[in-house]
Amino acid sequence: MENKSLLKIENVKASVGEKQILRGINLDIGPGEVHVIMGPNGSGKSTLANIIMANPVYTLDEGKIIFDGEDITDLSTDKRALKGLFMSFQTPQEVAGISVENFIRQGRLARGEKSSLIKFRKEVDGKMDLLQMKPEYKERYLNVGFSGGEKKKTEILQMLMLNPKLAILDETDSGLDVDAVRTVSKGLKEYLNGENSAIIITHHREILKEIQPDYVHVIYNGKIVVEGDDSLVDRIEVEGFNWVKEEASANE
Ligand code: ADP
Ligand code: MG
Repeated sequence: MENKSLLKIENVKASVGEKQILRGINLDIGPGEVHVIMGPNGSGKSTLANIIMANPVYTLDEGKIIFDGEDITDLSTDKRALKGLFMSFQTPQEVAGISVENFIRQGRLARGEKSSLIKFRKEVDGKMDLLQMKPEYKERYLNVGFSGGEKKKTEILQMLMLNPKLAILDETDSGLDVDAVRTVSKGLKEYLNGENSAIIITHHREILKEIQPDYVHVIYNGKIVVEGDDSLVDRIEVEGFNWVKEEASANE
């Protein structure tokens, strides 16, 4: 029978250089689900995101990644993106020489975009309006001279335009003012309107304002040590991670 799973991560162990960071991660994300990942700095959240996207800086030592019914463990980042995986980076790169709209257009062409440039531009303008971005930014070089907040909004713009099956947001809300976080949350809501899924790495409740997470996973020292529902976000905002560390050492 059809297993209702979009992304399945099985016993993933991963390292950077000589250092092992992920020590056996399991995750199962269904279509339309929103999963939040929390955890102290350095616990392995970004590593997990990068491993899901096959960033070559990170080495998968063990485990399997199944996406949309297919084993993608050995696929490159490009191929994973074509299959509908997307990641918004904690620190978006500046790319001189290619405009925001061309960058997005290339992504759409790679996926068999058929619509005219005029229609495409209209769509970009609509999404930029939703994200409260100035329309002239689409002609600027990708992220070059953008403020931190503008870079993050540009990531969300890409997500909305590429409409992946699963988007991974790595602290997209960090460094944003309160209004910008709310705007990003609205963008997320629009993206999630349907069967799309998301993994949201965050330290704060605000980005979840417009959406309802299905599961919250807390990573500590390369392992998921606590799992639960939305109420975990509030508990962590109030109590921090000390109790998580205690539970983790009790279970080691
Ligand atoms: P988080 O996103 O939870 O803050 P990371 O996954 O970024 O944590 O990092 C986990 C650990 O891996 C940290 O100790 C960090 O210093 C180390 N690490 C991550 N990326 C690199 C890298 N490119 N080179 C060296 N060490 C890294
Ligand atoms: Mg990180």
